[in-house]
Amino acid sequence: MKKKSTTEDIINQMKLYFRSDFKRIDHALSVLGYARQIMEDISCNREIVEAACVLHDIGIHMAEKKYHSTAGHLQEKEGPPIAEKILKDLGYDREFIQEVCLIVGNHHSPGKVETANFQAVYEADWLVNLQDDFKHFSEEKKMSLIAKNFKTGRGKKLAKETVANAALSEEECIRYSRNIQLEEVGPAGQLKLKKARVLVIGVGGLGSPCALYLAAAGIGTLGLADPDSVELSNLQRQVLHFTKDITKSKVFSAGQKLSALNPATRIIEHKTRIDKSNISGIVTEYDFIIDCTDNFASKFIINDGCIKAGKPFSHGGILKYEGQSMTVIPGKTACYRCLFTEEPSGDLAVKYSRAGLLGPVPGIIGTIQAMETIKYILEFKDLLTDSILTFNGLKMIFRRVVVKKKDNCPACGKEKTE
Ligand SMILES: [Zn+2]
Repeated sequence: MKKKSTTEDIINQMKLYFRSDFKRIDHALSVLGYARQIMEDISCNREIVEAACVLHDIGIHMAEKKYHSTAGHLQEKEGPPIAEKILKDLGYDREFIQEVCLIVGNHHSPGKVETANFQAVYEADWLVNLQDDFKHFSEEKKMSLIAKNFKTGRGKKLAKETVANAALSEEECIRYSRNIQLEEVGPAGQLKLKKARVLVIGVGGLGSPCALYLAAAGIGTLGLADPDSVELSNLQRQVLHFTKDITKSKVFSAGQKLSALNPATRIIEHKTRIDKSNISGIVTEYDFIIDCTDNFASKFIINDGCIKAGKPFSHGGILKYEGQSMTVIPGKTACYRCLFTEEPSGDLAVKYSRAGLLGPVPGIIGTIQAMETIKYILEFKDLLTDSILTFNGLKMIFRRVVVKKKDNCPACGKEKTE
């Protein structure tokens, strides 16, 4: 840094930019208060910390002013140009701006140095990447700056892991930074998600939220199986499909939205009805299967097919205001047939299919299925196995009921007849 910075310089500069917005200036002054706390915590250069906190605050302010919103991502659009201009006007050079960028994330969690360090790396990108000069800011350069600014902690360790892990690009590290910040996920977990192959059977009410969250989370390969086309009456709950998609095939319509959300997720379309004859061929290509179908016949076919192929899966079911879900690990935990031995008779199935359904119910259950999928891939311990979770939306009650694996289960039991 070439020019001496002082708190007064920064405040004077802010007064110029915000003119008579004294309330804002007061707030910024309180920001300077915890800037000092951060400075003590990480024994870093005082001027940098102060400048970083003020700049970050300016970013938030600009976003709020323009969009009347506090949404964090808006800072990306509005903050950096203003921040950059202030720095330039104050006469700072590129190296100083880089250091400021690296420290910006710290003001989110003053005192919590370890998480803040790691966050700083990613927060830095919103400022750095938007400036042409810094487009090619390498991981190595980031590392050296981290090492310079932060002495110890998990942030440094994770940054090293991320750099070592060439399979995750810089863009991916930013996109998935909220995943990676979780201790149980980290860069290694994110890579597991990237390598995972997940099949969603049924791209309707359950499949829509489920597939959206999985694509957003960074699942590398997402198979979509559905024979149907989008109909007007689907739109009340199948949130992947829009009015303009009516008559288009559901797998195509869903694939378009998911690719727009995350271009890195590879979508495989199976425009087919999963039945007894084709299920084993399709599920072998995947690590985890999600039953998002809307009829009993399919649920038993998926259960039996997955048990036979040794593929873990998530069951989801919905009716009127209620839903349920369970996760099945073949050979280890109870299956859907341990709970319901036989399909309901034809009459009952038809009655169920015409019972009606409130849109958020599949939204809730499909999201639980996405959560279970991610947990399975990340090898988390506590899955929704050997039990079924039921949801009553009218009473707003969740219940978890134990399901015992049956020795005489026709699908998974030792005494099975097949
Ligand atoms: Zn069973």
